[in-house]
Amino acid sequence: MHEWALAESIILTALNESKKKKLKAINEINIKIGELQQIEIDIFDFAIKEILKNYNNKLKDTKINIKIDESRLRCKICGNIWKFSDISSELNTDESEAIHFIPEVAFVHSRCTKCKSPDFEIISGRGVTISSIKGIR
Ligand SMILES: [Zn+2]
Repeated sequence: MHEWALAESIILTALNESKKKKLKAINEINIKIGELQQIEIDIFDFAIKEILKNYNNKLKDTKINIKIDESRLRCKICGNIWKFSDISSELNTDESEAIHFIPEVAFVHSRCTKCKSPDFEIISGRGVTISSIKGIR
């Protein structure tokens, strides 16, 4: 149920940010969720809307936009960059599901699409961030 804790912290961060920017109300919170993050988007979306109900004034008419941040991997040997979606079609369903929910498994199954090296790093597709908030001053 960490979706709820995450939703709560997103809202608190947005509120802090709105204080810094001296906003009277927040109209829009844009959230980016890494494709490899273990988040159930539906639960997260539901949680954030439920939590918003407990806040009045500033967050009364706030729109929540969730964008999925595509994963990208970089080969440490040849510098090639590829996406999980490039390789997921080569994997069977069980493997691609495991990769979707457990990022670490990626290191076991994946290889550089160019030089086939297993030595790579994840450069995007992780974490949850607020990309922007919009409000009224
Ligand atoms: Zn490579």
